[in-house]
Amino acid sequence: MNNDAVRLRSVTRRHGSGGTSVTALDQVSLAFPRGTFTAVMGPSGSGKSTLLRCAAGLDRPTSGSVTLGDTELTGLNETELTLLRRARVGFVFQAFNLLPALTAEQNVALPLRLAGRRPKKARVREVLEEVGLADRARHRPTELSGGQQQRVALARALITRPEVLFGDEPTGALDSRTGRAVLALLRGMVDRDGRTVVMVTHDPVAASCADRVVFLVDGRAGGELIGAPAGDIAARMTGLEAAPC
Ligand code: ADP
Ligand code: MG
Repeated sequence: MNNDAVRLRSVTRRHGSGGTSVTALDQVSLAFPRGTFTAVMGPSGSGKSTLLRCAAGLDRPTSGSVTLGDTELTGLNETELTLLRRARVGFVFQAFNLLPALTAEQNVALPLRLAGRRPKKARVREVLEEVGLADRARHRPTELSGGQQQRVALARALITRPEVLFGDEPTGALDSRTGRAVLALLRGMVDRDGRTVVMVTHDPVAASCADRVVFLVDGRAGGELIGAPAGDIAARMTGLEAAPC
């Protein structure tokens, strides 16, 4: 068993072809060790979402390889990749993407239903408790605040006990206080339960909750900071942003 939850080796992802092609990722090599919390930062368009999508098996690299645990994703066919995503990877987005007609507990149980498994009531309750929403199990998304909806999305991502939880700007749509509560949850999942979390964020304070911040610049790995305070992270980001004038 290797120590990395996910590893990317020289991953390149190109969109389109010929003169109009865009290189979203350019030979990126990165590892996300088990039981760690990594933040991914970089200017808009630097390839952060593409990196997460390739790492989670939602997108395929043009070249290079991605391994989840000991599984090489590039060798899998579409069906195998779909099964792997359902069982072994959790993903939360900036938009919570809950189904409005379903209650919180039905949303949380959905990944198991899609996998043809019968969700156990106790397990659904357990993950809702983990995100502090056991008392909202019967509420529909419109009856929940943004922060509560994102916590339902987190519970839904956790129900299958994924090896890695990916978040693409999971606090991006939340006010700062609500965002902090979600970050505290993510931090706790790593510290208490030894989970592996990889999160894209624009916010240096959010990134400072992670063990490590990796930077992307024009689709390339642009260095990292370990255990850095928000001020240092903000200064590094300012250095990466192109001057607008
Ligand atoms: P970020 O999340 O850092 O803002 P993205 O990974 O979304 O960056 O995008 C990186 C680059 O790839 C951008 O130039 C973007 O326009 C381009 N890109 C992303 N997805 C597609 C796509 N499906 N088709 C064409 N270009 C894309
Ligand atoms: Mg993005």
